[in-house]
Amino acid sequence: MLHLTLIGYWRSASEQHWPEPGAFVDPTWNAGIRERIIAHLTSGAVLRVAGGASWCRFRCAEFGAYGLGSAELTDGEYVWPSGLAHYVAQHQVRLPDKFVAAITRRHGQAPIGQSFDADDFEIDFEWWRNQGGFGGRAAAFTTPAPRGRLFALTAGVAPTAPILRALRACPEVHSRSLPDMRDAILRGEEVLLTAGVLEAEVVGLRRDLEGLGVRTRFEPKDGAV
Ligand SMILES: [Zn+2]
Repeated sequence: MLHLTLIGYWRSASEQHWPEPGAFVDPTWNAGIRERIIAHLTSGAVLRVAGGASWCRFRCAEFGAYGLGSAELTDGEYVWPSGLAHYVAQHQVRLPDKFVAAITRRHGQAPIGQSFDADDFEIDFEWWRNQGGFGGRAAAFTTPAPRGRLFALTAGVAPTAPILRALRACPEVHSRSLPDMRDAILRGEEVLLTAGVLEAEVVGLRRDLEGLGVRTRFEPKDGAV
């Protein structure tokens, strides 16, 4: 039987017993070691695939909601979620010395591959649960970034060609006719531009519209992925 030690689960609103990722942020960590750990984390063998995908606790634009994968990887000694490499690579997360020492001992040997019996293992959750990090205070989140809807506020806006063109490029406006859009703007309608997006994904669009004198409003909609 394989005896695996879990590493890399993070706190969330529903699972508050896991460590706080912000406490593990350490920009001073040796860059060479960081690279070695990332390489190790991305080359593990798939132990099992969980039901739901994970999301980035630092809410980056690309991985704000459920973008970090759902697999658990292993090297035969440790088991970690596939998204853990993202935290080490993108958020300066440092992992405990005991884990680093174990990786270093392997001297870059490839993980054990598929040679183990994936049905016959037990996992120690306690070691990771009791890790406190390195004193970092980076802000992290316990709930996924909410997706939502973006509206254009057209009260007082003139339906000029550049504005009509910019609005009609948006997914929810795409199928509306030009005369329909012109009337909507003359009425000062709140025009739904796009739905099911992260706020971070529409930063550029909002900036473009504001540049044309059109104010926008983002309405978060929890749970709508
Ligand atoms: Zn991230």
